[in-house]
Amino acid sequence: MEKRLIKKDALAGIPKKIRENFTVFAPVKVEDNVVFKELEPQEEPLVGHYQNTKNAPKGVFFPRTEVMMRYVRTPKGVQLKGIEMAAADAVLFGVRPCDARSFALLDLLFDQEKYKDPYYIAKREKATVVTLACARVPYRTCFCTSVEGGPLDGKGSDVLITDLGTDFLVEFLTPKGEKLGSYFEGTPASEEAEKKKEEVKQKAEGEIVSHIPAREIKPILDVNFDHPFWDTIHKKCLACGTCTYLCPTCHCFDISDEMKYDDGRRLRNWDSCMYPLFTKETSGHNPRPTQKERWRQRTMHKFKYYVDNFNAIACVGCGRCVMYCPVNIDIRKIVEDISKLQ
Ligand code: SF4
Ligand code: SF4
Repeated sequence: MEKRLIKKDALAGIPKKIRENFTVFAPVKVEDNVVFKELEPQEEPLVGHYQNTKNAPKGVFFPRTEVMMRYVRTPKGVQLKGIEMAAADAVLFGVRPCDARSFALLDLLFDQEKYKDPYYIAKREKATVVTLACARVPYRTCFCTSVEGGPLDGKGSDVLITDLGTDFLVEFLTPKGEKLGSYFEGTPASEEAEKKKEEVKQKAEGEIVSHIPAREIKPILDVNFDHPFWDTIHKKCLACGTCTYLCPTCHCFDISDEMKYDDGRRLRNWDSCMYPLFTKETSGHNPRPTQKERWRQRTMHKFKYYVDNFNAIACVGCGRCVMYCPVNIDIRKIVEDISKLQ
């Protein structure tokens, strides 16, 4: 694995160079928000001067709305016009380590041995993830170290860039990452750089103030599906879905058909387990009739079912759901409270 040092002022020009040959997605300031989006021709990405994007970059591989196929109604029946699996050679530049880790978690679901999602896989395979480590921890709500990640974690990344103060350390973690080597002009990293990286890591980890017993609650969840605790957390939830839409690991979707005269298209749209209609059946029966069952599902899915299925927690500790829930429901407190259940 090659490691290189590049000058601090060289980083800002790199996305522009990459854009000559790839579609680039990066953090961009849009009004008062920093959002992760495809760079328009004249758009400048924020490099190194942002905390984290409001939206999670999962939308590059799993878009909010995606056309799956088009068809036409004819006198002889419905005919398929085409399957849409658009995937460009793309570079995601300036992803934070928690969000890069979410890609590894989503791979477990969308790219299983038995079940493969061709739409997700097509985009994922053609993309290279360039991650900017959190040398300074962005928020007090970050808890990546409680969910097997860290501010300098390279999981899910092809290239990892760390600010060492005087230079950036660039680590090419995968063959895909190595293919971007020519865009990062620099000198081979010394042992000194390694030591500095370790210091940055220790310091950044020390800045994390939120710690939750995320792994410890699995055996408690295993035997407490009917615990009265579930009656206590959901009451102020508005069922707005903000937590699931901003979450880098949430991946529920719905498939629907739209017709205009004889032309039809099949779409996949994000959905949310927080919505009453998510589980409502055609008969009118709803197996998750209130917000209580929906919140239990969200918690169970992240801290029990994903662990059962893939031995991984489906939360990367980004803190978005904590920061943006309009009624301040805090998943850190929920996990903490569950750890104390008798
Ligand atoms: S559950 Fe909350 S903290 Fe965890 S990954 Fe999702 S948005 Fe981030
Ligand atoms: S963001 Fe808060 S209010 Fe909205 S669905 Fe999630 S928990 Fe409920």
